[in-house]
Amino acid sequence: MSTTYLVTGVAPLGGEQVDLLLQDGVIAQVAPAGTLTAPDDVTDVVTIDAAGLVALPGLVDLHTHLREPGREDAETIASGTRAAAVGGFTAVHAMANTTPVADTAGVVEQVWRLGRDAGWVDVHPVGAVSVGLAGEQLAELGAMADSAAQVRVFSDDGKCVHDPILMRRALEYVKAFDGVVAQHAQEPRLTEGAQMNEGVVSAEIGLAGWPAVAEEAIIARDVLLAEHVGSRLHVCHLSTAGSVEIVRWAKGRGIDVTAEVTPHHLILTDELARDYDPTFKVNPPLRTAADVEAVRAGLADGTIDIVATDHAPHTREDKDCEWAAAAFGMTGLETALSVVQQTMVDTGRMSWADVARVMSSAPARIGRVDVGPQAQGRPIAEGEPANLVLVDPAATRVVDGAQQATASGNTPFRGRELPGRVVATFLRGRATVLDGATVETAAEVTA
Ligand SMILES: [Zn+2]
Repeated sequence: MSTTYLVTGVAPLGGEQVDLLLQDGVIAQVAPAGTLTAPDDVTDVVTIDAAGLVALPGLVDLHTHLREPGREDAETIASGTRAAAVGGFTAVHAMANTTPVADTAGVVEQVWRLGRDAGWVDVHPVGAVSVGLAGEQLAELGAMADSAAQVRVFSDDGKCVHDPILMRRALEYVKAFDGVVAQHAQEPRLTEGAQMNEGVVSAEIGLAGWPAVAEEAIIARDVLLAEHVGSRLHVCHLSTAGSVEIVRWAKGRGIDVTAEVTPHHLILTDELARDYDPTFKVNPPLRTAADVEAVRAGLADGTIDIVATDHAPHTREDKDCEWAAAAFGMTGLETALSVVQQTMVDTGRMSWADVARVMSSAPARIGRVDVGPQAQGRPIAEGEPANLVLVDPAATRVVDGAQQATASGNTPFRGRELPGRVVATFLRGRATVLDGATVETAAEVTA
C-alpha cells in the first residue's frame, strides 16, 4: 500500500491556502484550508503541516547532463536524478553528450531504463542530432522517437549544429513526430580557444574572449531556418542581450521558437573570472551585468520561455586546475529554484504562478512530456497526477558543495546564502524528498 499524504494549509502557486489529499498517485482532494481530514478507511497517512509553504507542480528540467553512460565518476543517473528531486524536479531531460553518445535507439533506451530504475524523477533522454555529435551525418532521429524512450527533443548540446544544411534537415525531419531541435548556439570559428565572455574583463585579465555575436549569429540563422521549413526550434541557454532581441523579433514574426536561460546567467557575471577560479568557467560564458538584466527582462516578459539548469557536473580533476585546462560547466539542479526566487520572485518581477510556468508547464510542453489535459498547464487540481513540490520561501540556507546530492562539487554558489528551501517533492503521490531530505525508497515510485 502506498502512503497517503494530507498536506494542510499549503498555498498552491502562492495563492489561497488549501488542504490537499495525495492518494494513489493523484491529487485526490483539494479543499479550503482546515477542512480536510484523513479518510477513515486509510491507515497509512502522513500529515504535513504546510502553513507558509508554496505548492508548485513538479519542476521539469529541459537541460540536464547526467553523464551516464561514460563519466560515472562525475555523475550517475542515480545521483543526478536524486539531486533533481532535492531541487524540486519530477522530470529531467538528459543531454546526449555521453560516452557513447545518445545517438541511437539503444543508448536512449538505456538511459531511460536507468532513470526508471533509479526512480527519483522521470528521465527523458535527449537524442543527438548528428552521429557522434560530429556535426556531419544526421543521427537516427526517427528510431529514437519510436523507441521506448519516445525522444522528442534532439540536441548536439555541448556542440553547435553549425552546418546549415544539417540543421535544416534536422528541423525538417523532427516535424514527422512533433519533435524539436534544441540548438547550442555557438559559432565554432568565432570561439576557437575562447575562455570567457569577450569584453572589458577578458581584455583586462588576458583570457581569450567569446564574443556575443558567436551566439547571436547562430540564433539569427536558425530562427530564419525554422521559419523557412515551418519547424520548431528551441534555443538552449541564451545568454546575451542581443539574443533576447533576436528571439523577441522572431516571436513577433510568428516563428515557432522557444528559448531557455540558465539560473547562473540570471545572477552571475564575467566579473567572477577575475580570480581565475574555474568554478565560474561555463559554456556559454558568464556575461555582463547588462546581459543579466536583459535575460531577466526577457524571462519576465515571456520572450524567454523557460529556466533550464544546464546542470553540468565535473570531477575535481577536470575542474580544480588552471582556468585554461578546466572543463566548462557548473551544477545547478539543487540551486535553480532558489536562484529564480532570488532574482525574479523576491524582486517582484514574477509570481509563483510564473515560476510554475517557466520551470514546469512550459518546459513540459516544449519537451512534449505531458499528453492530454496536463499539457495545458499542469494544474494543482483534483484528479491530476500528484507531481508536486512544497517550497518554504521564507527559509534561507548557505550552499555547501559537499552536502549536495550531486556527485560533483562544482556549484558556483558554494558559501553563498540563497533563499528558499524544498521541503518535499512528490512523484505520482510518493515522496522522493521529505523534510528536505531524500526518501530512500524512491525506486518504489515507479514500481
Ligand atoms: Zn550547451
